[in-house]
Amino acid sequence: MTLDHTSEDADFIRRSEENQARLTSSLQPSYDFVVCGAGAAGSVVARRLADNPEVQVLLLEAGGDDAADQVLDPGLWPTNLGGARDWGFTAEPNPHLNGRAIAMSMGKGLGGGSSINVMVWARGHRSDWDFFASEAGDSRWGHSNVLDLYRRIENYQGPPDPHYRGDGGPVWVQQAADPNPIACAMLDGARELGVPTFDSSNGAMMEHPGGAALTDMLVRNGKRHSLYRAYVHPIRDRPNLTILTGAVVRRIVFEGRRAAGVELVLQGRTTLIGARSEIVLSLGAIQTPKILMHSGVGDRTELARFGISSIQHLPGVGQNLQDHVSFGCTWEYANPIPPRNSGSEAKMYWKSRPDLDNPDLLFCQVEFPAPSERTAARGLPEHGWTMFAGLARPHSRGRLRLKSADPADSLAIDANFLSDPRDLIAARACVELCRALGNARAFEPLVRGEVMPGNLSGDALDHYIRDAAVTYWHQSCTAKMGRDDMSVVDASLKVYGVEALRIADASIMPRVTTGNTQAPCAIIGERAAEMIGEAHRL
Ligand SMILES: Cc1cc2nc3c(=O)[nH]c(=O)nc-3n(C[C@H](O)[C@H](O)[C@H](O)COP(=O)(O)OP(=O)(O)OC[C@H]3O[C@@H](n4cnc5c(N)ncnc54)[C@H](O)[C@@H]3O)c2cc1C
Repeated sequence: MTLDHTSEDADFIRRSEENQARLTSSLQPSYDFVVCGAGAAGSVVARRLADNPEVQVLLLEAGGDDAADQVLDPGLWPTNLGGARDWGFTAEPNPHLNGRAIAMSMGKGLGGGSSINVMVWARGHRSDWDFFASEAGDSRWGHSNVLDLYRRIENYQGPPDPHYRGDGGPVWVQQAADPNPIACAMLDGARELGVPTFDSSNGAMMEHPGGAALTDMLVRNGKRHSLYRAYVHPIRDRPNLTILTGAVVRRIVFEGRRAAGVELVLQGRTTLIGARSEIVLSLGAIQTPKILMHSGVGDRTELARFGISSIQHLPGVGQNLQDHVSFGCTWEYANPIPPRNSGSEAKMYWKSRPDLDNPDLLFCQVEFPAPSERTAARGLPEHGWTMFAGLARPHSRGRLRLKSADPADSLAIDANFLSDPRDLIAARACVELCRALGNARAFEPLVRGEVMPGNLSGDALDHYIRDAAVTYWHQSCTAKMGRDDMSVVDASLKVYGVEALRIADASIMPRVTTGNTQAPCAIIGERAAEMIGEAHRL
């Protein structure tokens, strides 16, 4: 039986609390599997491994619990930005963003990003998954196999659609309920521009060159249904799954080439816990490569600069950083309309050039002003809304650099947004399309007028783009799966050149998927667990 926070009974809560208190107060010297990071992908891996009662699983998480209104109330997600549930990363100053050092939030605590994000469920485009398969040389990553997996993991609340949707899985997916009138206007506006609209933002739309639809979201009975809630929370009464919060992973400890254990800090003390079978890194696209480098897996010349002994030379660790850079365009409401659901209920994918086969632009509506720190200074209406107009297929690549040998120190994040000139060209088309959409007839009854950017062109438009650029929080690809010299993991997500170490999180994406990234992370977690199961005959 699957229980969630709204239906679970008092007996389950008591049993779970007693179970976890017992397990965490008597930590074992080693476990069969140690999963590092209880975020979007790590939650999936831990659950699937723990489904086998013969296997002892330890799930390590640096942050804390998720039982708080700030997490569970869908409308409160912005209150986590910059707070205790946000790692609070900042990228290096970027000359392509007029020198700005932008915030790069990532979730900290049970659920990771899936506990502070906007709850959008976006599966990725057919072309993304087929690209994953071709890079990996393994059809299991291809669209038709991934579609099969999505059908198995979803508990879709919309009309039956057996080809695209499943209704027996752990992930409760529902379309934005009772959406805001501006979300509906977005679909009418899209049609005015000749963009087709769809009944669902997943399914057929993700096989099409573009379209608009209401958003699918992970909200159940009015509460956030994070991937932690979907996968791990319902089984925390099991004796073979230890969920350890406040546990900060510092490095992987190798015996020869074998990943034998994890060094972590728990309540101020450094501890070593062994892994009898495997370690899975699910620390997210910033921390997974960081921990790899601190453990001696990375570019040997870079590691040598900090006196870190090289276990395995993998120059791709921390390279290939991708994200969806976004440019907020804002309108003022004619009459204030409070945000509904997560405050983002409609989305659109489209192309910056007609000759493209697949969408390279991503638009998510946000039902309140969401400027950058720079564009906020231009002045905001008291009641407004924003279109997050983003690049779905950016060409710019960033990288991560260690700044010291101490894992407790921060690292340098060169996000490098807009460093590739093709991205600026796409960004102009993106902002122009966004303005055409927001100024469409469909919005006229609802808005007083456009606030920004207004009718800019040439250098003024470029300047706005560079001032407005922010992250969509889809950091990924820093330990990519593939077969070239810059690849870090193979098709089974095993780290090249070492044993008993896999990665399952957004780091392994060869390129960032076309839409929001938590659903692809669930697939990555499922595939990782499946491949581990095969390898160990679980
Ligand atoms: C504000 C925000 C809004 C977003 N909106 C959406 C959205 O609406 N839809 C969508 O699909 N995606 C969204 N995303 C992105 C999505 O949440 C991420 O892509 C996804 O969570 C990444 O999953 P992951 O498993 O790679 O890493 P994460 O979910 O980030 O998990 C990594 C986990 O590892 C833990 N960790 C890190 N370092 C250590 C350490 N040293 N020791 C122990 N634990 C550690 C972290 O605390 C975290 O819990 C958003 C993200 C943010 C931040």
